[in-house]
Amino acid sequence: MQIQMLGAARTVTGSCYVIEAASHRFAVDCGMHQGNAEIEKRNKHSAAYRAAELDFILLTHAHIDHSGLLPRMVKEGFSGPVYCTKPTQDLLDIMLLDSAHIQEMEAEWANRKRARRGGSFVEALYTREDAAQAAALLKPQDYDRLFSPASGLSVCFRDAGHILGSSFLELTVNEGGRQSQLLFSGDLGRPKALIVKDPERPGIKADYLFMESTYGDRNHKDEGRSREELAEAVAYASARGQKTIIPAFAVERTQEIIYTLFLLHKEGRLPRGIPVYVDSPLAIKATEIFRRHGEYFDREARELLNNGEDPLSLPGLVYTPSTEESQAINRQQGPAIVISASGMCNAGRIKHHLRHNLWREGAAIVFAGYQAVGTPGRKIVDGAKSLTLLGDEIKVAAKIYTIGGFSGHAGQSQMLDWVEAFHHQDLKVFLVHGEEKAQQTLAGLLRGRFGLNVSIPAYLEQITLEPGKTPALHPDPSLSAEKTINWPWLLKESEDRFEQLKAGLAGAGSKSWADQTEIREQLQELNKRLMQIVSQLQAR
Ligand SMILES: [Zn+2]
Ligand SMILES: [Zn+2]
Repeated sequence: MQIQMLGAARTVTGSCYVIEAASHRFAVDCGMHQGNAEIEKRNKHSAAYRAAELDFILLTHAHIDHSGLLPRMVKEGFSGPVYCTKPTQDLLDIMLLDSAHIQEMEAEWANRKRARRGGSFVEALYTREDAAQAAALLKPQDYDRLFSPASGLSVCFRDAGHILGSSFLELTVNEGGRQSQLLFSGDLGRPKALIVKDPERPGIKADYLFMESTYGDRNHKDEGRSREELAEAVAYASARGQKTIIPAFAVERTQEIIYTLFLLHKEGRLPRGIPVYVDSPLAIKATEIFRRHGEYFDREARELLNNGEDPLSLPGLVYTPSTEESQAINRQQGPAIVISASGMCNAGRIKHHLRHNLWREGAAIVFAGYQAVGTPGRKIVDGAKSLTLLGDEIKVAAKIYTIGGFSGHAGQSQMLDWVEAFHHQDLKVFLVHGEEKAQQTLAGLLRGRFGLNVSIPAYLEQITLEPGKTPALHPDPSLSAEKTINWPWLLKESEDRFEQLKAGLAGAGSKSWADQTEIREQLQELNKRLMQIVSQLQAR
């Protein structure tokens, strides 16, 4: 059996394994690569997936970093079934269309810019039509029920407790009279998270575990205090007449925050009459889907529902689906809570709310989810003094809160507890979906505590699995070249330019005043850029 890592290898986004087993070729997850431009290039260079040759796809959950390339696969000729749980199907119906809409808008924007410069036309990664076709391929499956997507293969979805409908996958492969069992953790939830149930335990004795490692190097701090922390943030900003801005993933995080605000309101701990805006069309639709699927909620949330209470509602809650309603929030004076997407501040309406509030002293920005490297959210959390948003340089004067207890991911000790419950000495572990530092730390603990064989595969790496043999990893040859940047050469280039600049500036006084001011402006711009690079290098 061969498994190729097409994403989330030493990084957190783009989850996808392409597997060749029992004479079939299929994928587990098909996520979009998100982060900086370099990482996002992988979305367009999608030939490696060989979409038309995939027999079927298994999806662990609806998050775009696990599902977002599905329409791209359809665009490139994939037409097989896509298996997932029922809530995942319902969420994907809206999320894939939303993602396609973003792709179309980005392409349109890029084309307008290119037209002015005379550049060539760019095509959207995929369109709403591709997304609708992809959604039509979804085939819902129940949790805890074995099914066979193709001969020699059987699959079971188990509740991963990460978002509504999320699962980890048990895959049994029968090949040449021998059986192998694989476990794909997908994104593993945090026990005691709001709304969703706790992650289940696997029902198989897995030979291979492909496990996420997002929080491999840390536990969530003050997990039990998230409700207090949110109350503190809101109290801080509203006492100063300012807004509390909460960047939140549209799915799950938004609903958890509404739920928490519902509880705070019930306890009389929210400022009286404070408006709570849910300012993301996708989050609004997702909240409605959550409402329809109360049977998947955990016990506490189901009890509320049985008592006739609605944990996803509270007085002052305002949905703002239209752009006009969204813009009106920024004209409204006084305290308010604004929940908006995207969760990492790299897209969507949240950018506007940050532009209007990040520079205000007394405002509060609350981060409640993982912030990937390269995103504006990560820069703010890492202590940036200012950042560029929608083309403007915005200083950071608002108070920044990071609340760990809202994370959808298990922390380090929770992952170890999960593995402890079923590990055995022959279990081979592959860590995915994490940054390298987190992965190294978790690998060390898994080896040290349980004596497990742990690998950390790289992007495009091929893994050969044969029963009874040590897994063989084959790195992609293109990778090492891509991974090295010649810093000394680049620095030498800059130094040479600076020598020329010094020499040139000595005679700059004889230029016309208009020229001199223009050069001054460019030099100031250059200094600003250098400052940005230096502050990025110094950031934690
Ligand atoms: Zn996820
Ligand atoms: Zn993920």
